[in-house]
Amino acid sequence: MSDFGGLMLETNLIGGDWVGADSGKAIPVNNPATGEIIGHVPDCGAAETDRAIAAASAAFKNWSRTDLNYRVGLLHKLHDALLQNQEALAQLLTAEQGKPLFEARGEIAIGAAYVRWFAEEIRRAKGEIVPSPTADRRLLVTRHPVGVVGAITPWNFPSSMLARKLAPALAAGCTVVAKPATATPYSGLVWGKLCQDVGFPDGVVNILTGSARAIGGAIMASPDVRKVTFTGSTEVGKALIRQSADTVKKVSMELGGNAPFIVFDDADLDAAVAGAMVAKYRNMGQTCVCTNRFYVQSGIHDAFVKRLAEATEALVVGNGAQDGVQQGPMIDMNAVEKVEAMIADAIGKGASVVTGGQRHGNGGTYFQPTVLTGATSEMSFATDEIFGPLSAVFKFETEEEAIAAANATEYGLASYAYTNDLARVFRLNEGLHYGMIGINAGLITTVEAPFGGVKESGIGKEGGSQGLDDYLETKYMAVAGLG
Ligand code: NAP
Repeated sequence: MSDFGGLMLETNLIGGDWVGADSGKAIPVNNPATGEIIGHVPDCGAAETDRAIAAASAAFKNWSRTDLNYRVGLLHKLHDALLQNQEALAQLLTAEQGKPLFEARGEIAIGAAYVRWFAEEIRRAKGEIVPSPTADRRLLVTRHPVGVVGAITPWNFPSSMLARKLAPALAAGCTVVAKPATATPYSGLVWGKLCQDVGFPDGVVNILTGSARAIGGAIMASPDVRKVTFTGSTEVGKALIRQSADTVKKVSMELGGNAPFIVFDDADLDAAVAGAMVAKYRNMGQTCVCTNRFYVQSGIHDAFVKRLAEATEALVVGNGAQDGVQQGPMIDMNAVEKVEAMIADAIGKGASVVTGGQRHGNGGTYFQPTVLTGATSEMSFATDEIFGPLSAVFKFETEEEAIAAANATEYGLASYAYTNDLARVFRLNEGLHYGMIGINAGLITTVEAPFGGVKESGIGKEGGSQGLDDYLETKYMAVAGLG
């Protein structure tokens, strides 16, 4: 079995030591493309987590006071280490997660870009000197690292979701206790090795695998963890927000989405189809910003559906590790069954399958990329996240109708619209209740911009200059008696 150039770690990082679970128990990790067990990771719980928090608290005392230049230098080395190992890291990611290799390479690259971005951005984390109401005072506003950060990440972007948390935390001078998703632990654990290799001090980064409830519970209960940053489902996010109340932690929540993708009659059809393919089928439809609902205006509807179906049928499905594959397997059988149930529900309520609709002939958790028309607000995907390769197309007549339908969800993460009407673009900017809007663009994530949702899609931003805010406390100091 390949160890991916020594980057597949089967132990956890606590206080600079690579260790197993106290119980000696381990959890198997599966390759969703083959069903094969590729390795095991420790099944840690609350006791190991408490030790990791203690190590992070001890390390914080020095780390938070280090020279900015020193932290920035380490982050640049980490960026370089990620890119030097990009191919092996991408192969490891594909092996545990299933996404095609070209997407995995892209994920490693954007993770490295986040590290570089926050190494640059921390230099601009300025405070303020505020004009004082009286001549004898000076009012200073300064910014300080929040303390120990708990970071919990999902399986769909197991490397870059951790990058967006680790990089600003480390840049700000925080220390971290991280828990990657159990389905995809290796892409998380390897961050610990790379941090250690480039010289981050012991205890600054700690990474644990195992029981989500036990590790998450210990993180949430600890008064020493001052901030929790979570990416995952809205359901778990809500539970963590509730748990954060007892110790009044800062929380950042990147939660579920239900993205609308609106195509107006005046759209460029080629661009809309190209944008639709990337906004829908990236990572087999398993991204929080994936289109959940296509709203297509009646004048362009049939042409759009025809072209979308042709492009969908042409997707190459297979093991993501093989050249040319564009769609890998889904993460597990629950994900397959969820998509199947949504298709059955929609057909039962009058929808028609244009292409796909079945499990793929490859077996396992492969599913045919699917296009379905005649979607209505009564169907389950109108309100629930699909998280799979299913394009559900709704037809609409007016702009008002499309905006109202797009907003009829408790989610508010990403949204997309294709139109060439400039005035409409600004009506969409004001009318769409989403944290992110792509106009004539199906892929909008970039390190320079704030990624995050509104409503039940979350709290806080990752990336952009805003991505540092949650890792810094603002302190005000009044200096009086200055004459
Ligand atoms: P999930 O089930 O909520 O799991 C996310 C993480 O939380 C995993 O590490 C999981 O551990 C852990 N977890 C589960 N139960 C927990 C508990 N009681 N206490 C503490 N931690 C707990 O989500 P997922 O299925 O991995 O990811 C898919 C979801 O993430 C989708 O809803 C997607 O939209 C969302 N997402 C959002 C963004 C964004 O930026 N807004 C980005 C990517 C994904 P285990 O793996 O051990 O269960």
